[in-house]
Amino acid sequence: MTTDEGLKPETVAIHAGRSADGTSLAPVLWATSTFRTESVAEGRRLATSATASTFYSRNGNPTVNAFEEAIAELEGAEAARAFSSGMGAVAAVVLGLCSKGDHIVSQRQLYSGTQMLLQSVCPRFGIDVTFVDGTDAQAWHDAVIPGKTMVLLAETPANPRLDLVDLEALGSIAGPMKVVDSTFATPLSQRPLDYGIDLVLHSATKAIGGHNDVMLGVVAGSRELIDWIWGFAVLQGANASPHDALGGLRGLKTLGVRLAQQSSTAEELARVLQDHDRVESVRHPSLKSHPQYDLAQKQMSYSGGLLTFDLKGGLEAGTAFVEATRLCSLAPSLGGPESLVTHPASTTHVGLFPDELAAAGIGPGTIRMSVGLEAAQDVVADVLRSLDALGDVG
Ligand SMILES: *Cc1c(COP(=O)(O)O)cnc(C)c1O
Repeated sequence: MTTDEGLKPETVAIHAGRSADGTSLAPVLWATSTFRTESVAEGRRLATSATASTFYSRNGNPTVNAFEEAIAELEGAEAARAFSSGMGAVAAVVLGLCSKGDHIVSQRQLYSGTQMLLQSVCPRFGIDVTFVDGTDAQAWHDAVIPGKTMVLLAETPANPRLDLVDLEALGSIAGPMKVVDSTFATPLSQRPLDYGIDLVLHSATKAIGGHNDVMLGVVAGSRELIDWIWGFAVLQGANASPHDALGGLRGLKTLGVRLAQQSSTAEELARVLQDHDRVESVRHPSLKSHPQYDLAQKQMSYSGGLLTFDLKGGLEAGTAFVEATRLCSLAPSLGGPESLVTHPASTTHVGLFPDELAAAGIGPGTIRMSVGLEAAQDVVADVLRSLDALGDVG
C-alpha cells in the first residue's frame, strides 16, 4: 500500500496534518472554544462553512482540523470530520444520512454500541435495519431494497471474532452509500475507499490514539458527504475536543511501529494457543485456519494485535481466565500499550440474547484479547500461566 505521492502510509502518518502548526514541529493545541471575528460578513461566512475552523470550536477547531486532514490523507479521502468518540461518528453517519422510511443493511457481527444503535434507536426514528452475515458477500447484495436502502454499514475486521467483510464485493454494490468501520484495521492496514466504499470511520479511541488516554472518532470520505454529515454533527454536538485530537495526532506518529509490534506478538501468541490443550479454537487473521485467511492477505497489510480464542470449559473457564491474568488487564478497548482481555459474553455483549450471541460467534468461553506493547515473551507467559491457573475448571 502506498499513497499518491508514493510514500508508505507509515511515513504519511508521521507527517500528515500540519496545516495549523506554523513552524512548530509538533502539533499545536488550540485550546479555545471561540475565535474573534473581524466583521459581521466574515462571521456569517465562518458560521455557515463546514471547512471553517476559526469560528466556534463545535463547528471546527484548527487542532481538530489537523487531525481530520491527517486521517483524510491516510484514507485517500477528500475530507474527514472528527468526533468526541467512535460512537459519535457512527451516530452522525447513521442519523445524519438516514431519515424516516429509510432502510439500512448491516451485519450481525458488530461492535455492541453500533448494534444497539441500529437495533434500538433506529426503529424509534422509523429507520428499518436488516442484519446479514457480514462474511457473505451475496447476503449484502440480496438485502438491498432498491430506492429504500440508504446505507450499508459494515465492520471489518469485526468485533469480536475478527470476521472479515470483502471490501471489493461490498464496494461494487450500486445504490446505497457504503460505510465501513475500519477501527480494528487502522488506516495503515486497509483503505476501504480504494475499493469503492463511500465512507470509512474509526474509533480513534483505540489504535489511532493508541495510549488508552483519549476518546475520539473520525469519519472520512468525499467533501460532499462530509459536509452533509457536518450539518448534522454541528447540531449533534459530539465534536472532538482539541486535546483529544492532539492525542490522535500524536498517536498517528507511532501507529506504524505499534501495529507492527502488536501484530508480531499476536501472531506468536496465536500459534502458541493453537496448540494448547485448554483452547478449543483461535481466531487471528495470520492463521491459515482463519476461514477468510486469503481475504485477509488480500485486503489487510497487518494481521493486527487482536485475537479471539475459545476456552474449553465454557463460562466457568472464560470468567476464571480473565480474572487470573496479571499482566493483561480485564478491560474493554483495544489498540493501546497495555494488553487487555475481555469476556464478551458477560461484559461487552451482555445485553445480547442467546441467539444474537451465537450469531455474533460469541460463546461462553470466548476471550477477546488486545495484545499490547509489552515484550512478547511476557505477554505469552501471562496467558500461559493464567491457562494453567484454571486447574480443574471445566
Ligand atoms: C470502540 C469501537 C467503537 C466505538 O468507539 P468509542 O470511541 O468507544 O465510542 C466503534 N466501533 C468499533 C469497531 C470499536 O471497537
